[in-house]
Amino acid sequence: MDKGDLVPDDLICRVIMERVDSDEAADGFLLDGFPRTIPQAEVLENALERRGRHLTAALLVEAPDEEVIRRLSGRRICTKNGHLYHVDFDPPKHEGVCDQDGSRLIQRDDDKPETVKHRLRVYHEQTTPLIDWYEGRGLLRRFDGTRSPEEVNGHIRATLATLKLEETL
Ligand SMILES: [Zn+2]
Repeated sequence: MDKGDLVPDDLICRVIMERVDSDEAADGFLLDGFPRTIPQAEVLENALERRGRHLTAALLVEAPDEEVIRRLSGRRICTKNGHLYHVDFDPPKHEGVCDQDGSRLIQRDDDKPETVKHRLRVYHEQTTPLIDWYEGRGLLRRFDGTRSPEEVNGHIRATLATLKLEETL
């Protein structure tokens, strides 16, 4: 994971199905960042089918690579308490210093530009094919990830509410 590579399929699928089978997922669930490959999507589809369940939608939040790199590589974290900043969107009052506890701000290895670029390469190779896969099943819903977090959140909530309503009709 430190290099931005993906976690082995069998491990992640087992962990996810344990949660899907738990009481907290009885009324529904949202998987964030899974599946990331077509083999994972197939395993998930089969596992849900065996349980008499199915996905209602696959949500795709889209943003250009440059925007993803700008957002992730601008993140800074404080070394003492993990307070988060962003050099463009939420900068500290004094560069490199936490406003709340005065400790040093660093960039996590995960957010270094080389790691972000590697993660994007893996995404384009392995995850992008899922867009057609879910589109072919009529499940894909697209969202504009260049909008503000509040707007994206609002659009996703509205879409989920509509889908929930349709399911109960
Ligand atoms: Zn801090």
